[in-house]
Amino acid sequence: MSSDALVEVRDLAKQFPYQRGPFGRSKVFVRAVDGVSFDIRKGETLGLVGESGCGKSTVGRLLLRLLEPTRGEVRFEGKNIFDLPGEELRQLRQHMQIVFQDPYASLNPRLPVVDLIAEPLVTHQTLSRAEKERAVAGLMTRVGLRPAFMSRYPHQFSGGQRQRIGIARALSINPKLVICDEPVSALDVSMRSQVLNLLGDLQQEFALTYLFISHDLSVVKHISNRVVVMYLGKIVEVGETLEFFRHPAHPYTQSLLTVIPVADPHRRERQRRILEGDVPSPINPPSGCRFRTRCPYAEARCAAEEPVLRDLGGGHLVACHLE
Ligand code: SF4
Repeated sequence: MSSDALVEVRDLAKQFPYQRGPFGRSKVFVRAVDGVSFDIRKGETLGLVGESGCGKSTVGRLLLRLLEPTRGEVRFEGKNIFDLPGEELRQLRQHMQIVFQDPYASLNPRLPVVDLIAEPLVTHQTLSRAEKERAVAGLMTRVGLRPAFMSRYPHQFSGGQRQRIGIARALSINPKLVICDEPVSALDVSMRSQVLNLLGDLQQEFALTYLFISHDLSVVKHISNRVVVMYLGKIVEVGETLEFFRHPAHPYTQSLLTVIPVADPHRRERQRRILEGDVPSPINPPSGCRFRTRCPYAEARCAAEEPVLRDLGGGHLVACHLE
């Protein structure tokens, strides 16, 4: 294990069975994640990006062992989480939490906020009512909510406040890793930057490591130290944020970046290269490079040979045959 890696993901794959044909008699497999490897370094924010259906949220759930993999390993502080028996896994889960895209859907509407925020805490510790309320009041204050509202229910809060409840809940057991799965995509622009700033402040204060899953590269640029791009279950590019946005190397990344507005009025707007065609089916992905059916540079080799990630220097990796 490299000394600065909190999480090491190796050849991780997840296939979901799917019935099709008359009366569902033919069983096929959706290859949602197909052999991905990457590290999450201690204290960093790693952005994981790609279009809807590329497998990024499945990776997030595999990292928490909310799903069992088809193959591969996820090592958290050196331990493969898929080898851990029940009690050890429960102990390890104290260090890993998730913030969901839609806090309303992920919060039980019948529970008051005090119980929602304290839920992970009371799973791991025995607390009196007073201790629980004290802990929740501290967390609510820290995420910008008034503790006086702890007996209210989720529907009595705005979308941004509900996301703060989700963040307070994730922080309640002092995790090391927080997986943020599209945490701001349901929020309006002003609320979005407030929640991103809050996540940044909390990271400093609590020495958190984030895996930040998003389809929105402008959000990822704002918060991430490094970026991983997925396409149809595979990683196509990895890089430090600055280098990644200055010199995107994969044609898919280049296409994604053209839709980000350029803030500097003196810079020429990037030439728009809109992605054409639909994402192919993960049941039967294209041979060779999976992006070849949408790639403007595709050549014969791209159909015959799958490109592997190669290092362009400084940890910038790309899976493309183009030199
Ligand atoms: Fe395009 Fe070929 Fe590179 Fe794939 S390997 S991104 S098809 S040029």
